[in-house]
Amino acid sequence: MKKLIILGSTGSIGTQSLEVAKKEGYEIVALAAGSNIKLLEQQAREFKPKFVAVGNTALAEELKIKLNDTNIKVLSGSNGICEVARLSADVVINAIVGIAGLRPTLAAIEAKNTIALANKETLVTGGELVNKALKENNVKLLPVDSEHSAIFQSLQGVPSGSVSKILLTASGGPFYGKKKAELVNVTRAEALKHPNWSMGAKITIDSATLMNKGLEVIEAVHLFHVKPDDIEVLVHRQSILHSAVELSDGAVIAQLGTPDMKLPIQYAITYPERAGLCGERLSLTDIGTLTFEKPDYETFRCLPLCIDAIKQGGLKPVAANGANEAAVKLFLEDKIKFLQIAELVEMAISAQKKVDTFTVEDVFEADRAARALVIENK
Ligand code: NAD
Ligand code: MG
Repeated sequence: MKKLIILGSTGSIGTQSLEVAKKEGYEIVALAAGSNIKLLEQQAREFKPKFVAVGNTALAEELKIKLNDTNIKVLSGSNGICEVARLSADVVINAIVGIAGLRPTLAAIEAKNTIALANKETLVTGGELVNKALKENNVKLLPVDSEHSAIFQSLQGVPSGSVSKILLTASGGPFYGKKKAELVNVTRAEALKHPNWSMGAKITIDSATLMNKGLEVIEAVHLFHVKPDDIEVLVHRQSILHSAVELSDGAVIAQLGTPDMKLPIQYAITYPERAGLCGERLSLTDIGTLTFEKPDYETFRCLPLCIDAIKQGGLKPVAANGANEAAVKLFLEDKIKFLQIAELVEMAISAQKKVDTFTVEDVFEADRAARALVIENK
């Protein structure tokens, strides 16, 4: 029986991870979340972990009182979440949203825990630091993001050095086919209507701006050690072909499936083994047609901005991510317009100084500066 730690257990990926754990009978060592203590309490009572952690310290105190009829230890703050990430387990699933996931990822690696990573912002902001820590600690990090899981699955048995290109697919989001002029007044509710996937609010907005695909290009650079120019983004409306690799001899290997995150979550836990089916089986005859197009880089500026940020390297991707997190929060509060998200991301990338080397403290300082710039210019 595998032992799991789930960070971000109350979110979209977190709750689906618990569904997989329940189906496979895995033991839950610890759970962590930001603030939803109502759901965290229910999860704690059902899965009986030894520890839970709550990012919000006041809410952690509340949960401590609620759980005082149990033996579950409640930890608090970002230190509490890192402490939980360091406990002994077979796999730590990091399903926290945003840069808040970076320190827990590093903590898990230092404790030599295998990581199943959904939190793409970890690699976008700290890719170099994470790769260095993985090497030093001889730790495995397995992708949960569906595209990266598809690439990882497609690479099984492929000799290193024989990949010529990565084909990264994108659904195109709810505003596919629209031009800038039609996006001026789009609302939060319209942006939250994703055609194929049901996800947390932040990543759903990122899918509407194509920032999500930009973040995923950066994620792929760090996961698969490729150059940004070796990644081709394809708009694939059906979200069936989750991504592919092209090899030196021209063979293209892809992974297909229904749009259901439980498969990539499960594979990151069971790798290299395969477990049973979690959702629906794919029927290609029901789907009928798979289409592929070039993205509209003019309308969806966040994608080329991220590609530019990773090409420039250093802390530019941190600035892009920090500005985006702050701008998406403002958009979800109806405080800025949809197209301002890309404008603010662009501004933050330009404002970030070029550097060659940096520490984890520098990452958080660049993140803070990008967020401050968004607030000043909103
Ligand atoms: P979500 O908003 O549904 O859940 C986020 C989780 O993180 C919640 O449990 C929340 O309590 C926790 N959290 C938020 N801030 C925190 C903090 N400061 N400290 C500790 N915990 C905190 O988000 P989601 O859609 O599940 O996405 C999680 C991550 O997975 C994101 O990085 C996202 O890009 C990535 N991802 C999600 C999907 C998906 O289908 N939802 C697919 C691919 C990748
Ligand atoms: Mg994805």
